[in-house]
Amino acid sequence: MTELIKNGKRQDDRKPEEMRDLSIEAGVLKRADGSAYLEWGSNKVIAGVFGPQKCIPQHISNPYKAILKFRYNMAPFSVDDRKRPGPDRRSTEISKVSKEALESALILRHFPNTMIEIFVEVLQAAAGTRCASLTAASVALADAGVPMKDMVAACAAGKIGDEVVLDLAKEEDNAGKADVPIAIKPKSGDIVLLQMDGDLTPEEFDETLSLAKEGCMKVSEEQQKALQEKYEMEEGE
Ligand code: ADP
Repeated sequence: MTELIKNGKRQDDRKPEEMRDLSIEAGVLKRADGSAYLEWGSNKVIAGVFGPQKCIPQHISNPYKAILKFRYNMAPFSVDDRKRPGPDRRSTEISKVSKEALESALILRHFPNTMIEIFVEVLQAAAGTRCASLTAASVALADAGVPMKDMVAACAAGKIGDEVVLDLAKEEDNAGKADVPIAIKPKSGDIVLLQMDGDLTPEEFDETLSLAKEGCMKVSEEQQKALQEKYEMEEGE
């Protein structure tokens, strides 16, 4: 097997602290209240936001705030071996942690008894899809005009060989030593998602976390750019 990192260069020619190319476009779906399309390396993800709207079923509504629903879904054709369509344990887990990450950034008490639905469809997956989904969902929520205290920006860092690196690609995720996806609120710096698989020393963990935070700040810039471009375009119409 070829080494994941050799002379400071990764298999895709990136430096350890380099992120895969990221591009985000806001307002791509006509029927959604807010939406975003994102490409991050080979990941392709689309997010649609619907609401605030009447809460269905009504018995789950909250008289004090809007409830948030998040559905992460991987298309059967998004991975090399066809994925069985429909929800599974992994998508249920990613939906749950993503919803909780976003809840702390949104101002939901303005919309009692309503629901806000977020659908994320992963069209092409190449490691890091939970970060891609959260990042796209956050832009889609802002595009929908849902009031927010802050955005949520996500990025992973991890370890391949003996090195801590930013934004693991698929091969690095498969054969690497650790992967730590995080999400932060860029204004406050609060961490709203932190997961880890693999094995890191406490020192390596600290290094990984601060690299992932730097990654999130770069992601945050791209989110702002996507929203600015959308609103500049609307102003020009
Ligand atoms: P993340 O996509 O957030 O990194 P995981 O670490 O669980 O989440 O998955 C890493 C990668 O493994 C995914 O991005 C995808 O490329 C691949 N993968 C996940 N689930 C499946 C599946 N059911 N079949 C094939 N590949 C999958």
